[in-house]
Amino acid sequence: MLPDPQFQETAKSFVRVNLHYNGLGGSIIDWTMKAGSAKDHPSVLGFVLDPEGKTLGISKGDASTYEPRGFTQWLASFQNTSFPLIDPSAFTLLKKEAASVASRKKLGATLATLREKAGGEGDEAAEAKQLLEKVLPYAEWKWSQAEEAKETDPVASYERFSEIAKELQGDELGDRADEIVKALKKDKAFKDELAAHKIFAKIEAAATKLKKCNVSKPLDVASCDACRVANRGALAGMAKGLAKIVKKHDGTVTAGKAATLRDALNLK
Ligand SMILES: [Zn+2]
Repeated sequence: MLPDPQFQETAKSFVRVNLHYNGLGGSIIDWTMKAGSAKDHPSVLGFVLDPEGKTLGISKGDASTYEPRGFTQWLASFQNTSFPLIDPSAFTLLKKEAASVASRKKLGATLATLREKAGGEGDEAAEAKQLLEKVLPYAEWKWSQAEEAKETDPVASYERFSEIAKELQGDELGDRADEIVKALKKDKAFKDELAAHKIFAKIEAAATKLKKCNVSKPLDVASCDACRVANRGALAGMAKGLAKIVKKHDGTVTAGKAATLRDALNLK
């Protein structure tokens, strides 16, 4: 499978440590149990720890954990929830705005109000500045994620800008995101990209359903003849879809991905 760009982006915020299993009586199971796992047998697990080593979360130890989307979303949830850690009761003048920041509801309207009030003077402006320091880095982080994906994954970028347009509606950032989304919807090259992406998503879904030729062997449709025979119909469908993307949507980012996948799976 191809690496998930959202995972690569999200993973930048974390320091990755791999623990290699060293047997049933080994130190790893011992560590995972102490860190909060309920299993005393080996399974694929992901942990998020704070700098002190305290467990903040454990991914579910089933096979779906390593499906990039699910794992990415799980990992990203730590990033997203790390932003609104404010105590709304500490704000006496801007109670409504503080509640909005804490709950992440109506964030766009709040952001616009905070920008305006922070420009003033006195206690209210001080509270506004304090709240802005919480919201702005988050809003800017979201923006930079959308911006960075523009070239490498235009569809992901579009989805992120759509999210910003919704979440920050009423603020200048939300308005700008909305303009970008509207312009993309009319853009010929982007429409081409989106069409290619839709076909590619189906092929990726089909790829997760390929069957091994033998339970004790790894799936290898690229070079194992038995695997190719076992998946003949699915592979033919995938090859057709990939060829269509490469030919009809030439020049798109997805066409590049399709060509790479076609080579990786030896589908010509
Ligand atoms: Zn095989």
